[in-house]
Amino acid sequence: MNILIINAGSSSLKYQLMDPETGDVFAKGLCERIGIDGRLNHSANGKKVVKDIPMPTHSEAIAATLDILVDSVDGVIQSTDQIDAVGHRVLHGGMEFFASCIINDDVIAAIEKCIPLGPLHNPANLMGIRACQAVMPTTPQVAVFDTAFHMTMPPKAYRYAIPTEYYKNDSIRRYGFHGTSHKYVTKRAIELMGTKDIKIVNCHLGNGSSLSAVSGGKCQDTSMGLTPLAGVPMGTRSGDLDTAVAQFIMNKYGMSADDCLNMLNKKSGVLALSGVSSDFRDIENGAAEGNEDCALALDKFAYEVRKYIGSYAAALGGLDCLVFTAGVGENSASMRARICEGLEFLGVKIDAEKNSVRGKEAIISADDSKVTVWVIPTNEELMIAQDTAELVSAAK
Ligand code: AMP
Repeated sequence: MNILIINAGSSSLKYQLMDPETGDVFAKGLCERIGIDGRLNHSANGKKVVKDIPMPTHSEAIAATLDILVDSVDGVIQSTDQIDAVGHRVLHGGMEFFASCIINDDVIAAIEKCIPLGPLHNPANLMGIRACQAVMPTTPQVAVFDTAFHMTMPPKAYRYAIPTEYYKNDSIRRYGFHGTSHKYVTKRAIELMGTKDIKIVNCHLGNGSSLSAVSGGKCQDTSMGLTPLAGVPMGTRSGDLDTAVAQFIMNKYGMSADDCLNMLNKKSGVLALSGVSSDFRDIENGAAEGNEDCALALDKFAYEVRKYIGSYAAALGGLDCLVFTAGVGENSASMRARICEGLEFLGVKIDAEKNSVRGKEAIISADDSKVTVWVIPTNEELMIAQDTAELVSAAK
């Protein structure tokens, strides 16, 4: 099967053509500067191609993507008929979607209904869907939601302790994000551990970071909230914050709510603490050179992640498996070690040599560690492709 995976942003569109069974990626690329001028970055067969192509809208971006996939020189398929289905990444499924689903008019209407919850992403995701429908009207399209994996959370985890009317009228609650990544590493952890009957804490640590608490394969809690701003500090996001801090800053500096949220989303996190960068490699280098602000940023990040792991172990009533994934989780041995330092009381014991692994599936805990600690590289595209293939095959 050939599945085309689309991740449409407001001015960009990422794609991959993939075999969902083997995980083989035949081609991938990025259409950028949509609505400005338009550029296609395509790679396939070990070759990279960059082309300036006018892309006034997402429709031209999809058309350019399909053209290059069937191109006689740089293409990987002969005809777009060889694309069996398209899987779309959709940010916010609100309370409408508990799983991936085949797109029809009702699904589009429900994604539209979720726009107030994902005002930046859902409209762009819809543009990608509509553009594909227009050029491939008979090819099945599937929506895969960033929030769906977390929809098994119980009310005590997803409800906020604020007046009920905001939940009832406006669907204000914890949703969580990175769901496709959490779902993928959960699936792998269950396969690798050989049983579903385990308590897992997943740490997706990248530029954006979130943790999930999982038992029996189902998400019980997650650190992000109504939006991705909540949880641990991130590259540029503050993470959890006393809401009154926002009020104080807005009042004192005459800042609007939008400007304040922009500051908390884009100018905070380890960028703000380190004063150097949002990139953990730069911060690790800064700390190694003796920059104390960088050292604090790393210390704070590790501390908050460690606190979440502890609280999720308490929420689950135990811990069998701890998983590290995404850019920092997969690659930074020092951050993994720093996070796990002090978790020995929970039965987490890291083996320093095993922990030197980068970017591949491996156990990094000591043989006598009660909790098995894994590095599992995430693969959101493969998860989208597998969900898409499964739904389309079942519908045949
Ligand atoms: P992601 O959002 O998953 O792509 O992760 C991006 C983050 O991973 C950036 O902050 C990178 O600095 C970080 N990262 C990638 N490789 C390393 C590494 N070897 N050591 C530390 N951080 C890394």
